Amino acid sequence: MLKGTSGVYRSDNHVVVERHLHQFPSLCLSCGAVCAVPEAAQSTPGTRQKLRPPVCPACNSRRGRVATIVAIAGVAMIIAAPVVYYMLGVLPAIVMLLTGVTDLGIAWWLRGHALRYRVIHEDEQYVWIAGGQRDFLAALPDWHGMKLGELQDRGS
Ligand SMILES: [Zn+2]
Repeated sequence: MLKGTSGVYRSDNHVVVERHLHQFPSLCLSCGAVCAVPEAAQSTPGTRQKLRPPVCPACNSRRGRVATIVAIAGVAMIIAAPVVYYMLGVLPAIVMLLTGVTDLGIAWWLRGHALRYRVIHEDEQYVWIAGGQRDFLAALPDWHGMKLGELQDRGS
C-alpha cells in the first residue's frame, strides 16, 4: 500500500472510494503508471461532487488521439460520399455517408468513455469503480464492507 492513500479500497476487482474523504494513490487508474494525484476531495456531505481519480497524461492524450482519428475518418467518408455516388451509384454512397456519421458518433462517445474504468455503483457515501488497472488495485487496502452484489441486492 502506498503512503498517503486513504479512503480508497479494493473489493475483488472493484475500487471503492469514500466519496467525501479520500486520497488516491499516485498511480494512474487506467494503466497503473506513477502519476500525479488530483487534489484531495474537499466536498461537503450532501453534495455529489464528481470523483477525479488519477489518470496519467499518456492515457488522457491517447483517449483524445483515438477519438480524433475516428473523427477524421468519419469526416473523410462524408466528404468522399459524393465521389462514390458518381462512381458507384447511390447505394454505396448512402452506406458511406451512414458509416461516416456513425464514426463521428463513436468519436464523440470515445471522448467521454474511452478510459477503461467506469463508475458502476454509487450512493451518498461510497463510489464503486470497475476496470481499475491491476497495479492500481494492488496498491489499495482491502475493503471490509459489503460486497457490491449485496449492496445491489439491498438496493433493488
Ligand atoms: Zn495511464
